[in-house]
Amino acid sequence: MNFIDNAMLTVINPATGDVLQEIPTDDSEAIAHKVTQAKVAQPDWAARPMAERIEIIRQFNGLLADHAESLAQQLTAEMGKPIKQARAEVGTTSSRIGYFLDQVEAVLATETLLHDSQLGLKEQISHEPLGVIANISAWNYPFFVGSNVFIPALLAGNAVLYKPSEFAALTGRAIAQLMTEAGVPEGIFQAVIGTGQVGAELLTHPLNGVFFTGSYATGCKIAIAAAPHLMKVQLELGGKDPIYVAEDVDVATVAPAVADGAFYNTGQSCCAVERIYVHDQIYEAFVDTFMATVRDFQMGDPTDENTYIGPLARAAQVDFLKYQVEDAIAKGAKLLCGGDRLERPGSFFAPTVLIDVDHSMSVMRDESFGPIIGIQAVKDDAEALRLMQDTPYGLTAGVYTPNETRATAMLRQINSGTVYWNCCDRVSPRLPWSGRGHSGIGLTLSTYGIQTFTQPKAWHLREG
Ligand code: NAD
Repeated sequence: MNFIDNAMLTVINPATGDVLQEIPTDDSEAIAHKVTQAKVAQPDWAARPMAERIEIIRQFNGLLADHAESLAQQLTAEMGKPIKQARAEVGTTSSRIGYFLDQVEAVLATETLLHDSQLGLKEQISHEPLGVIANISAWNYPFFVGSNVFIPALLAGNAVLYKPSEFAALTGRAIAQLMTEAGVPEGIFQAVIGTGQVGAELLTHPLNGVFFTGSYATGCKIAIAAAPHLMKVQLELGGKDPIYVAEDVDVATVAPAVADGAFYNTGQSCCAVERIYVHDQIYEAFVDTFMATVRDFQMGDPTDENTYIGPLARAAQVDFLKYQVEDAIAKGAKLLCGGDRLERPGSFFAPTVLIDVDHSMSVMRDESFGPIIGIQAVKDDAEALRLMQDTPYGLTAGVYTPNETRATAMLRQINSGTVYWNCCDRVSPRLPWSGRGHSGIGLTLSTYGIQTFTQPKAWHLREG
């Protein structure tokens, strides 16, 4: 008996509202079967020499490059990412995978901490895979956020049940297809297709870990669902990332850079700039230059090479952004542009800038995840710092000033996993990506983001 009423997932193009495809979802029986297959196949995968797993993932990376254009077009069609940005995502994923391929052997090599020949005693740490893990993923950067998990997890010897977002399901299926073509053995990487209900069903099985990327609200549900199995839980969640612009910056370069940080990917980045605080000495100049940049953003058909802002991937988010605008205006904010959906098919929300905002307003407190930003004037660094920290989230925060001492003094006090000096909306494979507070627990990327898919085994070896 299936638990899912609607056995098909309807994939809609958010730029037109047209149905792209109907694809079958996984029911309870299919999910149980995939879990069993993964459990059966995982020990052999883990027992293979690391060099073999590396070679297979290298093949996958090659296939990703071979199919880059069609994958980018598919991503644009199903989630509305402007085509140039879709190509950039697919292209950059290859270099991230390259980082993992270069690092994994050294990071997971057995370490000898003590070798005492007199006592005949050795102490070592080996890194064993967790086993079978669920990777429940978001739609906004499906190649990035997916591969940050499934590539190191596979290299470390785990089997992965990959549940792509229902808003990036075609991409998820294509990734699974390329894994098979690359030689990943049956059962080791399987896409599990469907809505959140399918993700919830997956977590009724006793797995060895769940690695989740998505919202705080769903992250809490994931942690609760995982608790009875005591599986490892890692949550990469949302943010309300602040930027402070001090009075000593070059406004002409900083304002456009911060606007890009707020509006790239139509504002749908976990590390998008979500709040801007500007020193009151340059507030007006900053807002003028910022507005000039925003007015130049081309919005529309995401398949057009010149489009910078596309539709929202989730139609329902349009109403939430509208609510944030109305709430802000009712509490005294001034709307400088946008503020409403575009009267055309698809889920387009006009790039929106609000000034005279404060922390009583949802737009300065709740993750917007769209092309909308509030800019607030502050009198000094202390006020900026206090407002930046007035949030339960802790993903990223940035300070713009030529004065490194001033910036780092502020950034040291901020409780977030990532801090930026004179940059924003940036992720590096070499650095750990982690959130604090409502932005999550655990991390991906860097060498730590390889080890996280393993469990250490302590060896006490005494010669007999
Ligand atoms: P979401 O929480 O709505 O969904 C994420 C995934 O969880 C989807 O695959 C969904 O089907 C699944 N899901 C939903 N309910 C579930 C349940 N009860 N049990 C199991 N799975 C369930 O988030 P979204 O809309 O896909 O993504 C947007 C959010 O993700 C934003 O908050 C964004 O900031 C965050 N995000 C964070 C990072 C990061 O690295 N920190 C990266 C990308 C996105």
